Amino acid sequence: MLKRPPIVVVMGHVDHGKTTLLDYIRKTNIATKEAGGITQSIGAYEIEVRPKDEPKSRESVANRGIPREARAIGSEAQARRDDFANVRKITFIDTPGHEAFSNMRYHGARAADLAILVVAADDGVKPQTKDALKHILEEKLPFVVAINKVDKPGADIEKVKLDLGKAGVYLEGFGGNVSWHAISAKNGEGIKELLDIVLLTAEVEDLKYDSDVPASGVVTSVRLEPQKGIIVGVLIENGKLVPGKFISTESASGKIKVIEDFLGRRAESLVPSSPALIYGFNELPKIGEEFIIGEELKKPSILKKEEGEAKPIKASDDKTLAVILKADEAGSLEALKNLVVSIAAEFSLNIVASSVGQIHESDIKQAESTKALVLGFRVKTGPAAVNLARARKITVINSKIIYELEKSLKDYSAKVILKDVRSIEILAVFGKPKGKEKVIGGRVVLGPVKSQESFEIWSDKTLIGAGRIINLQSGRKDVLEAEANQEVGLLVETEEPIKVGHRLVFP
Ligand code: GDP
Repeated sequence: MLKRPPIVVVMGHVDHGKTTLLDYIRKTNIATKEAGGITQSIGAYEIEVRPKDEPKSRESVANRGIPREARAIGSEAQARRDDFANVRKITFIDTPGHEAFSNMRYHGARAADLAILVVAADDGVKPQTKDALKHILEEKLPFVVAINKVDKPGADIEKVKLDLGKAGVYLEGFGGNVSWHAISAKNGEGIKELLDIVLLTAEVEDLKYDSDVPASGVVTSVRLEPQKGIIVGVLIENGKLVPGKFISTESASGKIKVIEDFLGRRAESLVPSSPALIYGFNELPKIGEEFIIGEELKKPSILKKEEGEAKPIKASDDKTLAVILKADEAGSLEALKNLVVSIAAEFSLNIVASSVGQIHESDIKQAESTKALVLGFRVKTGPAAVNLARARKITVINSKIIYELEKSLKDYSAKVILKDVRSIEILAVFGKPKGKEKVIGGRVVLGPVKSQESFEIWSDKTLIGAGRIINLQSGRKDVLEAEANQEVGLLVETEEPIKVGHRLVFP
């Protein structure tokens, strides 16, 4: 068991200076040259707090206090050196808004070892300060207090101490034992001391990891880049992370191709509590999910789970939208799925199938038998599939642009599922049609509908064709328009055979 640095989360009320503090620490504790490598937050970063009496060369820092026999080359000696260096490292969770932290709590994993509670000296204890405290106490998370903005004219440290006492937090020198320091996240005053207090507090916790087991930890960021693919930021909590292994979270898995440290430098291996970037996931995991080496964590994907739980769709089940999803790659498929799920808040959704690849005849056949809509994102529809879809009247919505898909899908669900569009329900068809002209009777579901308007004909969730109202009657009199719930007689013009139960939809 080797020592590992503490993982620290900064909490507190909005505007009390959490971001400013994290920025200041990052800028001042990572050598500028290296810091330049940070282009995008990966949810966490690591610093090394330099001791006051820091010798000039890093090598000698690394060797200080280490027995002579361990000052050798070789992995064991290296591990001992790391072990020692870890004493002065801190990993900060810097996810914007600290969503990761709440997510991690939600998933039952405790990512942070220690919290810094930031309270602005000019504002005192506020509702979110209390919220943060509640979490900290529930989690039994060790914490230190940073009284921030002491450079401001209105700063009142004594009032903050009093406020905290009222909230049940008794500071050192103020009747309690909670460590604290007055700081200015803006000009850096007191931050060095705060970091020393953090290290001391962590020392008491005696944080260890096992270097002989495969890595485990939590996901802190997820990114999809056009050239590089899926890049997942993680925090290693135990074990040793190396490339070449299978990795899994509850919702995603893959084989680790490359690992990088939080500065984007390729690494042979990384150990706790380091942030790391992982290349090689096949799908996008979720922030806050636990990861392990091996494939066990990956549940049959959420798509498949929904598939398994779905009941066969009955014709009467008209509040369910069944979909078949196709996309060009795993990341797009995930995006498409998220889109569908977000739109389907008001009706139930059944993801019949989802896969990577172009839209084939088999997808159209499956759509027909399950009364599903086919949704394609950045894929082609094969010519045979186009013909079959036309013949069987299967709706295929396909686009390279996610916003277009969103719009089409919203239109479709408004028409077919939510029935949130002007429409007439067909109750009767009279006589033999004369060419394209047909006489029908119906009820206006949502109005007004007007004479001369064009319409679409829908049978359940299938678009059958289009037409136009030539004459509109209500109570056997010609009218120009009719309202909801009115029964109407219509002379329409259309190529399609209209049947009782069809709907005329006015887009
Ligand atoms: P957060 O919402 O807790 O992340 O707060 P921010 O870090 O965004 O800070 C809110 C505002 O307070 C910003 O305008 C900061 O520039 C300012 N601020 C943060 N820390 C200090 C400080 O120590 N002194 C002063 N004067 N302003 C600060």
